[in-house]
Amino acid sequence: MPVELFCATGNKGKLIEFQQASGANVVIRGLPSVDCAEVGCSFEDNAVAKAICYAESLRGKLDRFSEQAPLVFADDSGLEVDALNGAPGIHSARFAGSGADDAANNRLLLEKLHGVPLPRRTARFVCCIALTRAGSLIKTFQADVKGMILDQARGEAGFGYDPLFYLPILEATFAELPPGKKWLYSHRGQAFRKMLDWLRESL
Ligand code: IMP
Repeated sequence: MPVELFCATGNKGKLIEFQQASGANVVIRGLPSVDCAEVGCSFEDNAVAKAICYAESLRGKLDRFSEQAPLVFADDSGLEVDALNGAPGIHSARFAGSGADDAANNRLLLEKLHGVPLPRRTARFVCCIALTRAGSLIKTFQADVKGMILDQARGEAGFGYDPLFYLPILEATFAELPPGKKWLYSHRGQAFRKMLDWLRESL
C-alpha cells in the first residue's frame, strides 16, 4: 500500500512540485485551502502551525480518516540575505508589504542591496517541512541552498526571488533552470527528500 500524505498548501504550484517528486509508494494529495495565521518566529514554527491548522480543518470531515488520522505535511520557506541580517526571512512572501507580488518584493530586495558588491551579496533559501498526524508534530525536516543575489533579474522560470538567486556552482539563477533541475538543488526539494527518506525507513 502506498503511503498517503496530505499537503497543507493553498499554492497549486507547490502541490504539483511535491506530487511530481514523490516517486513510487508515496501518494501526495491536496487539501482545500485554509487561511492559517503565520505568526511564528521561525520557518519551523510556521510549518508546524500550518500543518496543524490544516489537520484541524479536516477533523471529522472525512469518514475514511476515522480509523487512522492522516499524515499531513506543510512547508514554510524563504530567503535569508546576509547583508540584510537574514531579511526577508520568514517575511519573504510579504517583504514589500501585505499583498505584495513577486515583482514588488524583488524590486525592494534590489533597492536594499543597492551598492553592495557581489562578494557581499551572499544568501540562502531555507525550507522547513513539518510532518504531523492527528494534530501532533511527528518530525520536521529542514534544508537550505546557498547562493548570491544578482543586481538584475535573469531567467523566466520559477517564482518569487528565483530570477535574482544565483547558484555559482551552476552558473545560473533558479529562474534559468528547468523545474527538475531546480528541484534537485532547491531547499524545498532537499527537505522533501529528507522527509521521504525518513518515511521509507520509519513507516
Ligand atoms: P511560503 O513558504 O509559501 O510561505 O513562501 C515564502 C516566500 O519565500 C515565497 O512567497 C517566495 O517569495 C519565497 N520563496 C520560497 N521558496 C522560494 C523559491 O524556491 N524560489 C523563489 N522564492 C521562494
